[in-house]
Amino acid sequence: MTTRKTPNMTKIRQATLDVITVAGHPLSANEVLARILLPCNPATIYRSLHYLEGKGYAHSFVLHCAEHGTERYYMATTPENHHHHWFHCEQCHRFIDLGDCSLAPLIQEYQEKLGIQVTRDTLYLTGICATCQN
Ligand SMILES: [Zn+2]
Ligand SMILES: [Zn+2]
Ligand SMILES: [Zn+2]
Repeated sequence: MTTRKTPNMTKIRQATLDVITVAGHPLSANEVLARILLPCNPATIYRSLHYLEGKGYAHSFVLHCAEHGTERYYMATTPENHHHHWFHCEQCHRFIDLGDCSLAPLIQEYQEKLGIQVTRDTLYLTGICATCQN
């Protein structure tokens, strides 16, 4: 995965984007903070992630896990603004990539049927991964 260079991006925002791009799986704000190489505090990370999401560079979802509680997880979107959906294992707590969002036909159907305009979708699945089943 390549990182994106964009104008109007502060060092912290660029570093935050780099961290979530390189990770390859969703990260909580605390995990971003642990990986970022610039000196910064949690509030800066939260603002930075919020900015990136607002500009379409990141996508986030809130996931509840019995062990970690409820957390918001962030990942980078692709340059075409695509996002992925994820499976979370309740035993080993890994994320498994479910691939590019395939909800478009369903969303289109809702939009036509209900006259609504969908700007955002969230889906995550939880359960036991293949490794943990053995
Ligand atoms: Zn597992
Ligand atoms: Zn978990
Ligand atoms: Zn989606």
